[in-house]
Amino acid sequence: MTETRQLPMSESPDAEIEIGITGGYGISRSIDIEEQIVVETPYGEPSHPVVVGELGSKNVAFISRHGEGRYIPAHSINYRANLFAFHRLGVNRIISATANGAINESLSFGDIAVPADYIDDTTNRNDTFFDEAPSRHFSSHVPFCPDISNTLTERAEKNGFECHDDVVLVIVEGPRFATVAEAEMFAAHGGDIMGMSTYPEVTLARELEMCYANFALITDPREDQTKYDRPTTSVTAVDKTLDERARDCTQIIIDTIEAMSTSRCSNCRGHAEIAKSDEHEEWEYRNL
Ligand SMILES: [Zn+2]
Repeated sequence: MTETRQLPMSESPDAEIEIGITGGYGISRSIDIEEQIVVETPYGEPSHPVVVGELGSKNVAFISRHGEGRYIPAHSINYRANLFAFHRLGVNRIISATANGAINESLSFGDIAVPADYIDDTTNRNDTFFDEAPSRHFSSHVPFCPDISNTLTERAEKNGFECHDDVVLVIVEGPRFATVAEAEMFAAHGGDIMGMSTYPEVTLARELEMCYANFALITDPREDQTKYDRPTTSVTAVDKTLDERARDCTQIIIDTIEAMSTSRCSNCRGHAEIAKSDEHEEWEYRNL
């Protein structure tokens, strides 16, 4: 039986796990699990104890953002606790797997999209570790790690997926899907795909100076979202597609982490110093 241990704030982790994976819980079935860690954070509980073990030949920390079942909807996830748990374990680089709807009609059911930029349309999320003084203003320029994104794109294509890079992701609050008018507005604004959970993960990772890349399996193409005479894609249909493609998507993650460095890239590190807007005390989170 897998050991579960506690990591209170008063203790430091005994080993650094440089790669973090977040996505559906099914990914954990491919991990050779060593232990599960209940990571205490100043922001409450992560979605579940962090799963630690080997994926391919690399040591990884895994969090299913929706929990171990599928009971935490995207608008209710404690994103700050999840990202801070990765931070406490020493994670430098995060790969995020999501299921998304398409806005751009050139994206088809079962394709992979790798976003390069995003539009935040969420309305009610804790999206910063700095909601009190000292103030910090982080850059959102090149928000997704270009290094990991390029590797994800290459490996998705090698695994037989139609892969779209340089994609603009719109993150909506949910839990409802977008209206037709909303989808048309997002398309007019340059959006290619829609999702509910990449924000605020992407900006919280930036505040922690982690590389963060997202690869999206398209489960809901535009044509299904804009026809009035039939129901929109159901959660059951999304789950069926995810089950069918989960093994292939996990292989993309394995191939990517085998190919990539475990160190932060030049695009994603160094942001905390730039974000300082005053000469306040040292950033407390760096001194755990
Ligand atoms: Zn990076």
